[in-house]
Amino acid sequence: MKKIDAHNHPGLSGWTYEEIIAQQDEAGIDKIFLLAIEATNTDEPGPLDIALERCLEYYERSPERFLLGCAPDPRIPGAIDRLELLVRDYGIKICGEVKIRMMYDNRDAIDMFRHCGELRLPVVLHMQEAAASPTHQKYPRPHMWYGGDIDTVERVLALCPETAIMAHSTAFWSFISNDDKGKTQNYPRGEVIPGGKIEKLLEKYPNLYCDCSGDSGLFALQRSPEYAKKLMLTYPEKFIFARDFYSNELSDFVDSLGLPEENLELFYHGNLERLIGEEL
Ligand SMILES: [Zn+2]
Repeated sequence: MKKIDAHNHPGLSGWTYEEIIAQQDEAGIDKIFLLAIEATNTDEPGPLDIALERCLEYYERSPERFLLGCAPDPRIPGAIDRLELLVRDYGIKICGEVKIRMMYDNRDAIDMFRHCGELRLPVVLHMQEAAASPTHQKYPRPHMWYGGDIDTVERVLALCPETAIMAHSTAFWSFISNDDKGKTQNYPRGEVIPGGKIEKLLEKYPNLYCDCSGDSGLFALQRSPEYAKKLMLTYPEKFIFARDFYSNELSDFVDSLGLPEENLELFYHGNLERLIGEEL
């Protein structure tokens, strides 16, 4: 089955180019999206790994293996021009990863996300709550946070109805369960209480998609395989294969759910191809 990894980065955790290629072949993944972050205030530990230059370097070495995404910082004047240039000159197909210490319903961010809808670029949002992410030091910041909270996701969805929003990370995935644990914990455990905010948002907003990458997506889905299966059967067009690291844990888990073949085709590549509007 064709597999497109919708969310990854070059060289994470010390992985070399050769190791990534070898793992890609072993995992049977056709193409990997390398997402760059253009934020002026990122806390990312490996800034080089999220730089567009590094993504381009990988892409130029193996254009048949990689696809590109990049998120300009919407607060920079000319962010929309920058976005258009990234599409025209580098062929980016995703606006992501948006991982910035700013509320994503900021006016300038909304303008950029709406423009993504016109360009048919899905937007990948990294959501992380401050209260769940203390740094235990005053300098440079007492908390890590990105984007806002689950209610910010809802406001973005409502403000950008023509844009495909691929939500991701802890302040999104924690709300698979109908409780508030995600307000103070990045990786809450325990049985899922049905009727969580994710289910409610999927019901209400046709422009929401779930980027399943990272420990956040994997752990949330693993909390209750039965509930994960039910959600993926109810909304087969909404879940997108994405890793954010180089492992087979997510595909091993999803393959174990016993989903119909056509759902898996959508999950592994069909949904993303439909959003982008082309075969990848
Ligand atoms: Zn990422």
